[in-house]
Amino acid sequence: MKVLFILTFLIASLFSGEFKLKKWQDGETFGGYLTRHHIDSTKFYNQINPDDIKFLSSIQSGAPFFEDENNGTLNQILIPLGEEMQISVFKKGGEYKFDIIPINYKTIKDRVHIKIENSCFSDIKKATNNPNLATYLKKIFKGYVDFTKLRKGDVISIEYKQKSIGGIPWGEPNIKAAYVKHRDNEYFAVSKGDNYQIWTNKSIVKSVTKFKIIKSSASYKSFFYPLDKIRITSPFSYKRWHPILHRYRPHLGIDFGAKWGTPIHAIASGKVIYAGWMRGYGRVTKIAHGAGLVSLYAHQSKQLVHVGQMVKARQVIGRIGSTGRSTGPHLHLGVYKYGKPINPKRVLHKIVKIKGGSSRSVKIVKNVKSSIKNLPYREKKLYNTLSKLHNATPYIWKNLDEKINISVKEKKDASRIKLSSSKGAT
Ligand SMILES: [Zn+2]
Repeated sequence: MKVLFILTFLIASLFSGEFKLKKWQDGETFGGYLTRHHIDSTKFYNQINPDDIKFLSSIQSGAPFFEDENNGTLNQILIPLGEEMQISVFKKGGEYKFDIIPINYKTIKDRVHIKIENSCFSDIKKATNNPNLATYLKKIFKGYVDFTKLRKGDVISIEYKQKSIGGIPWGEPNIKAAYVKHRDNEYFAVSKGDNYQIWTNKSIVKSVTKFKIIKSSASYKSFFYPLDKIRITSPFSYKRWHPILHRYRPHLGIDFGAKWGTPIHAIASGKVIYAGWMRGYGRVTKIAHGAGLVSLYAHQSKQLVHVGQMVKARQVIGRIGSTGRSTGPHLHLGVYKYGKPINPKRVLHKIVKIKGGSSRSVKIVKNVKSSIKNLPYREKKLYNTLSKLHNATPYIWKNLDEKINISVKEKKDASRIKLSSSKGAT
């Protein structure tokens, strides 16, 4: 059994009990989890809505969740289904109930000016208590700034938003703007849509503005729709309100309508990690694509691959069916990133048939050139543009050194009461 580092914390304002952040064990089913906690899983599954079983079946290995357990008795388990909603299984009147509820997180808005003392990673973490910021900053400035070379006296400024649960950063930080000064080189990054626009003081001198556009979907370039003919019958949704049940019932994938027996293609190359039956989802295949991404194909009538098999992108892995909880032949496609469901549309590219019968993939990339063309070159204008772009209190990019010690007021998450790390086995 793996020993994981677990962050233990109290969240008095959000929950009644004491929750521990844990990671879902490799290959464990929800039924197995209940059994391990001495809970009658058959009884539990019999009394919940059969449509809800899918949510429990699709919990991924390594997914983060919160557990409130007291002397071996499970009080509640909260399993986030993305950044907005979470599964809640809780004890009530001697029985365990199921619900899907919004995640009660806070959003921290922060602006920090950091003078490098040791390393940028430790200094950023020290200033923000956020272990992810430095990683994202590195991504944004990739190709421009070598963060390992930053030294004492260099400067970093970041304006960002971060969701947090009980003081623990939740999800990806949203960096609005950033500034790095390394010796005499200055770099600015401003978020625009999914991209970042990068300026350097050197390029201003040359009257040539250099840009590096970073797309958040850059690493997904070889993901394709699983069917040749695309007909979406139900889109992805984290927060779908069910009018009859009067509660949230998210749809954590895309449903594609198709005829019985239609071939299903792997959306990308990878390794089959599951091929079998899953409660609610019927015949399911799961493929791991690396970088924490897993795709899931549900309700198949026939499976054509086995666990451990390597598959190529677009390879036929099964056939359309209606197994499990399904009202007609369709494919439910789920995509998970580090155990959390994401909208498959974020990674998929269309295969477009062109005349003559062959097909090609189409990358949906925004036209960045047109927005670059109109940007000013002169330094003064550039500073003004930056201020306007991130639509915040005007930045004082100049004379930054004098401003470094400004304390930021709305900095820390007020809900944090205690944050200590301890070892534990799960
Ligand atoms: Zn579905």
